[in-house]
Amino acid sequence: MENLTKQERVQLKKILLARDQTLREEIRREITLQNEFAEVASEVPDSGDLAFANLSMDIGNAAVARDAHELRAISYALKRLEGDSYGECISCGYEIPFKRLMAIPTAERCAPCQRNFESTHHQDGARGMSM
Ligand SMILES: [Zn+2]
Repeated sequence: MENLTKQERVQLKKILLARDQTLREEIRREITLQNEFAEVASEVPDSGDLAFANLSMDIGNAAVARDAHELRAISYALKRLEGDSYGECISCGYEIPFKRLMAIPTAERCAPCQRNFESTHHQDGARGMSM
């Protein structure tokens, strides 16, 4: 299916690769930050500080989990881009408009199917299951 032109594919690939890079850096930073908190927590016996350190680590983990989730979506998108399935809605099989892909390069569904999917699935539950 020739939905996207060659230039459009190149453009989308660039966006995906740039986002991939950003996310990897973000995850690296989060993990470094968490290691620092872990050190602080082990050095300071005061329970108040420990609770603060634990709380901060939880927030860090949530951020890492979110980034890792997006990173996986990007690697799927890049794989689809290598083949021919990129830009095709996985629900109805129709072409996803280029404008939508530019806004959400990892989109797997066209807008109506995505809305339908979100209204029939509990997003957080589904995300938790897939992790
Ligand atoms: Zn669709």
